[in-house]
Amino acid sequence: KSGFISIIGRPNVGKSTFLNRVVGQKIAIMSDKPQTTRNKVQGVVTTDESQLVFIDTPGIHKPKHKLGDFMVKSARNTLKEVDVIMFMVNANEPIGGGDRFVIDMLEHTETPVFLVINKIDLVHPDALLTTITSFTKVYDFAEVVPLSALNGNNVERLMETLTKYM
Ligand code: GDP
Ligand code: MG
Repeated sequence: KSGFISIIGRPNVGKSTFLNRVVGQKIAIMSDKPQTTRNKVQGVVTTDESQLVFIDTPGIHKPKHKLGDFMVKSARNTLKEVDVIMFMVNANEPIGGGDRFVIDMLEHTETPVFLVINKIDLVHPDALLTTITSFTKVYDFAEVVPLSALNGNNVERLMETLTKYM
């Protein structure tokens, strides 16, 4: 089984930390010009039963910039083409404006979206529940997976769940 996964989410939620933890084989970046290549492969994870290709989606991470139509369109197209979208958020921060921007981009996408709640090592279970609820109220996620990219807690389970969608 193999498939493509786009990791999206605000800066500092832990996307790079997650990729560094799971990705064995680092792919050399093909181009440094972000607008010329729509999808940037960030890494490939190969297990016994699957190959998971993680890609970046330029255009969805910068809510503070006014995005051109082209950027918005190409981000949306990428999201349609992947097998799973991983929407990563911070366990100790309930939904905010930056998250809503990203969620708006997910409207009309039929691709399954996983809500990945990172940094669970930092929060009390009650606070974690508050964060989860603030997101699940506004979007129907295919899966909700709390984990810690830093210490690896529950990361293996996420990889197994991803494989089910390939
Ligand atoms: P990105 O901007 O989404 O790529 O976020 P980074 O991967 O650069 O992480 C931002 C900060 O959060 C860094 O200081 C990481 O060490 C920290 N971080 C990432 N994942 C975790 C986690 O699971 N637990 C904790 N405590 N810190 C984390
Ligand atoms: Mg990063």
